[in-house]
Amino acid sequence: MSGLVLNNVTKQFGAFTAVENVHLSVPHGTFVCLLGPSGCGKTTLLRMIAGLDNPTNGAILLDGDDITGVPTHKRKLGMVFQSLALFPHLSVGENIAYPLRIRGAAREDQQKRVDELLTLIHLPGYGDRPVSKLSGGQRQRVAIARALALSPRLFLLDEPLSALDAKLREAMQVELRQLQQKLGITTIVVTHDQREAMTMADTVVVMNGGHVRQAASPIEIYRKPADTFVADFIGSTNLIETQADSSGAATIFGHRVQGLVLPAGAQKATISVRPEDVHLTAPGNGAIDGTVTFVRDLGGTIETFVEAGGKQIIAVSTPRERPDVVAGQAVGISLSPDVCVVLKQ
Ligand code: ATP
Repeated sequence: MSGLVLNNVTKQFGAFTAVENVHLSVPHGTFVCLLGPSGCGKTTLLRMIAGLDNPTNGAILLDGDDITGVPTHKRKLGMVFQSLALFPHLSVGENIAYPLRIRGAAREDQQKRVDELLTLIHLPGYGDRPVSKLSGGQRQRVAIARALALSPRLFLLDEPLSALDAKLREAMQVELRQLQQKLGITTIVVTHDQREAMTMADTVVVMNGGHVRQAASPIEIYRKPADTFVADFIGSTNLIETQADSSGAATIFGHRVQGLVLPAGAQKATISVRPEDVHLTAPGNGAIDGTVTFVRDLGGTIETFVEAGGKQIIAVSTPRERPDVVAGQAVGISLSPDVCVVLKQ
């Protein structure tokens, strides 16, 4: 396959396993985000792809070549880390040209490539400025341009935007994605920010405890989370316990959910229902009985907290579909089976 393949990759530090049996295929030209909480192993995985750490087990293939033991500088990578590591005493152009200079490229070729890259990162004419005079976002772009100077086969970034303030960060996410699409370069970004991952990635790889819990498109991760961890980590959700009745149909707090069936043989399962998929109705008529405990109006969305079966269920609606309810009111909760995702235990 053209692209990157991780085959059963494991990394141990002494007795501690930081990454375990990771399989991953990254087709050429795609954008992958490694996403997960602190300590889940995403940086360790990226460092192995970069050749900065060696896997304890498993193989890494790039465009069909086994690169597992190949040193970093021979992998043809572009890398950007959170620290950026720009040379503060050099100009923008000198920073970008640095890898070309080390390679011994002719001066005119260096200049030509720097000009191309400055246009690409929307900083034409900035070549002679000192990097110390740039804004955070501009520095970010210069670090990206420098990493791309040698037209790498693989572009690796570790929390590249985390030093930026929220607004700039959002803008840079879009910019980075557009740049990647323009160049068609296979890109892997480590982030702990799910919005960032959802904005940029073709494939989001959700990790926890050194394992890949799910690797899929952002919408699939959101709509069809594989397990409880993914469902809870991505966006907000209601995790609801269901029991099978004698016919195998799912019941929630004793109410049968029309059309929802648990996997064959399962006596119980946890389902995930996104708050925007919870509809409030009048009590009775087969709906799950509940009582409104709190209504939070955030302007753009309204969150209604309902207690049902001793648990809290949150419904989110827009102002247009505002449920006409107040705290203390009895309501019914109606769940359509197609929005209930039965999770792996
Ligand atoms: P963060 O978002 O905090 O950077 P991460 O998901 O990138 O977290 P890693 O840096 O990959 O996590 O670390 C995974 C686990 O491996 C952590 O428990 C970390 O302490 C451990 N670890 C990483 N590098 C080493 C090392 N060189 N020696 C020992 N343990 C390490």
